[in-house]
Amino acid sequence: MTTQKYFPYVNNKMFAEDVDLNDIAAQVGTPFYCYSNTAIGQNYQDYQQAFLAQETLICYAVKANGNQAVLSTLAKLGSGADVVSEGEIRRARAAGIPANKIVYSGVAKAESEIEYALAEGIFQFNVESEPELELINQVASRLNKTAAIALRINPDVCANTHAKISTGKSENKFGVPISKARLAYQQAAKLPNIKVQGVDVHIGSQLTQLAPFEEAYKRIAQLVTDLREDGHDISVIDIGGGLGITYHDESIPAKQAYADIAKAQLGHLHCKIVIEPGRSLLGNAGILVSSVVFVKTGEERQFLILDAGMNDLIRPSMYEAYHEILAVNKANSALKTYDVVGPVCETGDTFAKARQVSESKSGDLIAIMSCGAYGAVMASTYNTRMLAPEVMVKDNEFAVVRQRPNYQDVINADLVPDWV
Ligand SMILES: *Cc1c(COP(=O)(O)O)cnc(C)c1O
Repeated sequence: MTTQKYFPYVNNKMFAEDVDLNDIAAQVGTPFYCYSNTAIGQNYQDYQQAFLAQETLICYAVKANGNQAVLSTLAKLGSGADVVSEGEIRRARAAGIPANKIVYSGVAKAESEIEYALAEGIFQFNVESEPELELINQVASRLNKTAAIALRINPDVCANTHAKISTGKSENKFGVPISKARLAYQQAAKLPNIKVQGVDVHIGSQLTQLAPFEEAYKRIAQLVTDLREDGHDISVIDIGGGLGITYHDESIPAKQAYADIAKAQLGHLHCKIVIEPGRSLLGNAGILVSSVVFVKTGEERQFLILDAGMNDLIRPSMYEAYHEILAVNKANSALKTYDVVGPVCETGDTFAKARQVSESKSGDLIAIMSCGAYGAVMASTYNTRMLAPEVMVKDNEFAVVRQRPNYQDVINADLVPDWV
């Protein structure tokens, strides 16, 4: 069982920092997401500490959790942002992240998005293909601007993670193959409104080993040396994100060990290193709190049916992801084996099969752990279920940082033409 430092049990009740989750549930209703502000800050500072003495820009990967309270927390600590859409640039800017700390990744940047990013004056475009490079040059030329770019290099290494979140193999859609990189940089250097400044790599998410990072960075270091020989002025190496977290029993390398690998492979090149952590900043800083609706006895198994579903947290159905499932109040410590499921009309709406959880009854509170990243951001209103509210805790205070929408607003968002 993972230790949940920021979600401890106090007298058999789970707390978020110094707040009893029962109190939040009474006020906000279930299901709700709950984030620890202190955990986010600590994770950020651990990265800062790990990269001390190396010029580094930490660009939090906004797609992991884009809540404004999360982004503001990180902005105040000095974080930049790794974004994948105009919407995320707007979110980052609204939270006070300066444009010159924003890197823009993604395989399908639209012309209007490129225009917006150029007007804002972002630090760097992480370019994923030759056609994208051409388009950025065109837009920059029209706006009379210069776009600073890195090419995202696909180093063809295996990240040993889930296939759906592996990005650095040659069969993945991401980046320019490393074998074609020198040619692509030559082409980029010829474009008048492009300033080549860096090299970018991101090989996947939820990595539990350092070896794939090490191999990728080794290949990138060689490429930077080659590119400098070719006459390019490379001053930035963006090493992406991807360091995993403990969901179950994975042992994850410390941020310091990760930083040491990066510094060992890349330090001699004297570049600014950009890192793009998402999950490792937010994942263990958040949980999803739900109530048991029914306990149902099937022919072969017992079902713990929750009021949270796959629309609130899709990771178990989408990636077979494991999340720890704990009773918020564990006074009754007898364990029972349950299939823990949600209310959505899909068999895939299952959080865990044959899982040991404290014996529970209707109305009991259940915490699904490690949901701070890729939780709320991937939620939908499928089955016309309202998006779960988000709560942030700091010490003994809590605040709703996104409210539960109401039914009328959700229904009124649809428009019926008068010819229907
Ligand atoms: C998703 C993503 C990240 C963040 O990945 P984590 O595994 O959450 O750290 C960083 N960079 C890029 C380009 C991404 O697509």
